[in-house]
Amino acid sequence: MEQYKGRSFLQKIAVGPVYYYERPSRSGNRQQVRDVERELRRFSEAKQAVFAQLSEIYQKALQQAGEDSAAVFLAHQALLEDEGFGNLVCSTIQKQHVNAEYAVTASGEHFEKLLEKTDDAVIRARAADLRDVTERLLAVLGNCKAGPDRLEQPSVIVAEDLSPSETVQLERSKVLAFVTRKGSSNSHTAILARAMNIPAVTGIEIDRSWDGKLCVVDGYESMVTVAPDQNYLNQIKSKIEQESRRQKLLEELRGMPTVTRDGRRIRLYANIGSVQEADSALECGAEGIGLFRSEFLYLETDDYPSEEAQFDSYKTVLEKMRGKKVIIRTMDIGADKKIDYFHFKPEENPAMGYRAIRICLKEPEIFKVQLRALLRASIYGDLDIMFPMITSVNEVQQIRSILEQVKKELEKEQIAYGDPQIGIMIETPAAVMISDRLAKEVDFFSIGTNDLTQYMLASDRQNPELEEFYDPRHPAVLEAVRMVTENAHKNGIWVGICGELAADLTLTDTFLRMGVDELSVAPPFLLTVRETVRNLSMREED
Ligand code: PEP
Ligand code: MG
Repeated sequence: MEQYKGRSFLQKIAVGPVYYYERPSRSGNRQQVRDVERELRRFSEAKQAVFAQLSEIYQKALQQAGEDSAAVFLAHQALLEDEGFGNLVCSTIQKQHVNAEYAVTASGEHFEKLLEKTDDAVIRARAADLRDVTERLLAVLGNCKAGPDRLEQPSVIVAEDLSPSETVQLERSKVLAFVTRKGSSNSHTAILARAMNIPAVTGIEIDRSWDGKLCVVDGYESMVTVAPDQNYLNQIKSKIEQESRRQKLLEELRGMPTVTRDGRRIRLYANIGSVQEADSALECGAEGIGLFRSEFLYLETDDYPSEEAQFDSYKTVLEKMRGKKVIIRTMDIGADKKIDYFHFKPEENPAMGYRAIRICLKEPEIFKVQLRALLRASIYGDLDIMFPMITSVNEVQQIRSILEQVKKELEKEQIAYGDPQIGIMIETPAAVMISDRLAKEVDFFSIGTNDLTQYMLASDRQNPELEEFYDPRHPAVLEAVRMVTENAHKNGIWVGICGELAADLTLTDTFLRMGVDELSVAPPFLLTVRETVRNLSMREED
């Protein structure tokens, strides 16, 4: 039995076999794999993607440089489709149990050598073309769904780290826990793990030899145990029983109001990142959705999600919530949530870079697709729209003007839409400082304490080395919440908190006393927050 202590993201226990996940390398390095079918599928998907890329380039070249120059891309497509090459890649994967990247590299090199040996200069030149094709394949493979997205059995995922896009592509019902070496408890991966109600421990010196071994992840103790002995398993079993008894007690609060002993009511909403999570929000007693991180719809796909696809997702969430409030945040892409098809330029400081509303305002065509989908969906329930990373009144005015344009377009096309309320996230110090002015422009505020903490304390939320400096309970953050609440109420609008701090039970009393109107938390925390509120009283004498 081996035991390791790290940092925990969620207090829960999981027991199951380890799935050791290594991100496929873009360089084509050899990696042994267990799931041969998955590698074959990745190769076939990459081939299709490269074929589509080449068709697009061919068309562009045809228009800009003429048929002769464009013909090379048709030749590349022919090489890509060459049976000899394709068969060699597949048989390498199957026989050697290796990753698709390695099989592509090795097969490419094999054929390049053959081509280079010939006397015919024209055929020899094909070697360079083949290299080009294999490089394209490797690039697509490096970017494609690399997560352990098709697990054979429920498993504990052990990995160096997991990106938000890898995490969202996981088949949730098969993930028991995450164990990683890298990762901070404020990263989106940690937030997702909490939202998925999956225990996760980070800061662990992971080892490839654990693959397939039984593992216990104890989120209460931040402990990971590989190959546990019977004695330890018995202890864990009784802890799990205790956990489920407590859960049963909490479940009695599911349909109860979130109200203090002396009658102060607060709205208790859920944070979700996918349509499916609306179900767990309802199961855990959510009174609404306070934050739907819509960017995860973008992270799950290989290209911009269409208006129709987005409309379907928003409509489904609204229908599932049956008239309860649903606040959808427009895409907060950028920083740690990188997406290849957005073609971001490298940045020195991505968290302070081209992200969220900045992308939307600079690329209104992308933004308008989302706004159209949201407006159209709004007739199916009680939808509010919220905008992230606001720093100025001018940004809000620009948003409103784009929104008006979109509404006009819909009217022209005789497409129905509702009248959603418009809110902004308060997650920059600038927004806090001008909250009095911003409150005059919008219908509500939602305080994003995750980013607010990072910007107020100049402390990168992604960096695990900074955990002791990244303190969301810092007096500066709490003072910001108080000030924003006061300014919201002064201007007659409501205010909520949707950052992780909303679930901090040691602050529930403080937030209620400040007058915060809504708390939005990950579904697993809903009932404990409700329990805490119901045990509080705002009256001095109680
Ligand atoms: C926040 O910043 O507090 C927030 C809720 O948004 P996200 O965590 O997605 O950045
Ligand atoms: Mg944020």
